[in-house]
Amino acid sequence: MILYFASTNPGKLAEFRHAAQSCGVVVETVPQIGSLPPCLEDGLTFEANARKKALHYSRHADGLVFADDSGLCVAALSGAPGIYSARFAGPSATDQDNNRKLLHEIKGAETPVGRCGPRSAPASRSAHYICVIALAEGDRILTTVEGRADGIILEMPRGAGGFGYDPLFFFPQLNKTFAELDPEEKFRVSHRGEAFRKLLEYLKQV
Ligand code: IMP
Repeated sequence: MILYFASTNPGKLAEFRHAAQSCGVVVETVPQIGSLPPCLEDGLTFEANARKKALHYSRHADGLVFADDSGLCVAALSGAPGIYSARFAGPSATDQDNNRKLLHEIKGAETPVGRCGPRSAPASRSAHYICVIALAEGDRILTTVEGRADGIILEMPRGAGGFGYDPLFFFPQLNKTFAELDPEEKFRVSHRGEAFRKLLEYLKQV
């Protein structure tokens, strides 16, 4: 089975490809995606954006097309930056700009005691990543799946791997930031990994 991925992100493509291999699923980028009209990501939720992208690109490819949308939600910021994670510090913000802004905005927020989750107070450094994947064929969404990873925003970056907010995102279960995990380890526990495993489960059942 071939799954077409509606993105040009080589890092994500490699992660998805690797995870799909064991199920006999081949992941390819949507053919000629670079020359297709871009999709306007103006949805108000991760799911809306993932659905939009999957539908948009599925009109340009025969077969199954999936798209993902993801971001970081911080308790002390009432869930921000959320769907605006990529451009938190402005339209052309770098990861460094976004991380600097995040640290500035949550200055003074408290690290939750014990495991993060329901116990965390609103002004806490607990945070979670969300990833929604939408699968489409032709003009139709077949399913959407969601993954989540819970962590705590540190006061200083740690680690050189990953991307985005990973150096600040501490994952208590492994006692490391996401930037301190190797790619396979991260995919095993990440929001994106969880969502993609759910997608593969769905495909096994249809
Ligand atoms: P997108 O789903 O590629 O559009 O990601 C949106 C933004 O969310 C990224 O640019 C990052 O800032 C943030 N983000 C999403 N997933 C991750 C992750 O696994 N690590 C770090 N940052 C992430």
